[in-house]
Amino acid sequence: MTAYERSKIILRFADLLEQHTDEIAALETWDNGKPYEQAAKTEIPMTVRLFRYYAGWADKIHGLTVPADGPYHVQTLHEPIGVAGQIIPWNFPMLMFSWKVGPALACGNTVVIKTAEQTPLSAVYAAKLFHEAGLPDGVLNVVSGFGPTAGAALASHMEVDKLAFTGSTDTGKIVLELASKSNLKPVTLELGGKSAFIVCEDADVDQAVELSHSAVFFNQGQCCCAGSRTFVHEHVYNEFVEKARARAMNRSVGDPFKVGIEQGPQVDSDQFEKILRCIRSGVESGAILETGGDRFGSNGYYIQPTVFSNVQDDMSIAREEIFGPVQSILKFKDLDEVIKRANNSRYGLAAGIFTHNLDTANTLSRALKVGTVWINCYDVFDAAVPFGGYKMSGNGREKGIYSLNNYLQVKAVVTALKNPSWL
Ligand code: NAD
Repeated sequence: MTAYERSKIILRFADLLEQHTDEIAALETWDNGKPYEQAAKTEIPMTVRLFRYYAGWADKIHGLTVPADGPYHVQTLHEPIGVAGQIIPWNFPMLMFSWKVGPALACGNTVVIKTAEQTPLSAVYAAKLFHEAGLPDGVLNVVSGFGPTAGAALASHMEVDKLAFTGSTDTGKIVLELASKSNLKPVTLELGGKSAFIVCEDADVDQAVELSHSAVFFNQGQCCCAGSRTFVHEHVYNEFVEKARARAMNRSVGDPFKVGIEQGPQVDSDQFEKILRCIRSGVESGAILETGGDRFGSNGYYIQPTVFSNVQDDMSIAREEIFGPVQSILKFKDLDEVIKRANNSRYGLAAGIFTHNLDTANTLSRALKVGTVWINCYDVFDAAVPFGGYKMSGNGREKGIYSLNNYLQVKAVVTALKNPSWL
């Protein structure tokens, strides 16, 4: 089909998605436990925007005419790569679906996407909407299944031409190996993180507390880019800790379908137990438990919003991804020190900087070895802005113009010119 036809189908799908926001947000809440309001007001609109963004790209993808040093006409064709295999996690099921499917379809590929076993519903619903929007059978294929079986089959399949994976760093290593042992398909990886949120000495403490709070606690703390190491300058440290504790104690936890709830349950018992283990390790290693530290209530996988102060760099709560509602606050003295400590991580996904000093912002944003730096904001995920990691947070970029390259082959076509005098 022509690129313009593809664009129209993706736009029709985005309209349908928007019309069915309520149902899809409810599926996300049932599957994942996230507050319905968050899904309906933030994630589904972001998903709609992403599909519209890539629908706009579909008929603007083209090659170049290249000036060769000889009597040739040289052009590049930007062709679809073929069958894109995609594997996504459970923390933002619809948004992750969009980051993968949007650019792949815009570039003219077919897709086989494996959803996370914890959250299979919304992608199946979305596939039904794509069918309604006019996408031909077989172009988008949603597979529900477990990682070591369905996921591994996709990663090692000889007829899958490209693999895009989002999930943990450990699984990322496995799929990379499977891809290299089969047909050497190119692999993009969006993996874990342990992102630093740096509160500088000029900070308005109330604002910094609020922003760093949402940087950690958003989505029950189940964000790859959670600002899970809160570095605070020593001049504002005591006031910050006191206010961060009060803010966490004030967080509304409960039934995710209720209006005004900020935090629902964790996704499943595995995550719930893992987070409680991380909290126990924080206490045992000598961090100060300011608030929280246990399950919330007696039913369901709810965890109390938890804040640790006096966290040291070598503690596991400062090194390992907790993926839960746990804030670790660390004290720092000067910029050089905090740059070194923030970069002292195997991850490099994102960082937050809270300052009004332009020089400080410029220095930090260049010195930090991460794929995204947010200055006086956090978790801004516009469709046009690339996202991805340095170091063991992955390779390749998703979203924006950068994602198109993941789903295109470049072919050079060289034609001898019959009459070189008209070169
Ligand atoms: P996970 O690695 O356990 O699972 C992710 C996906 O991989 C799931 O679909 C799972 O079924 C599949 N999988 C598991 N084992 C597999 C195997 N052997 N072969 C093929 N596929 C397999 O991760 P998770 O617990 O679902 O998700 C949380 C992780 O994802 C966190 O580390 C988080 O930081 C990361 N994440 C990263 C981003 C990002 O953009 N960088 C976004 C969201 C989540």
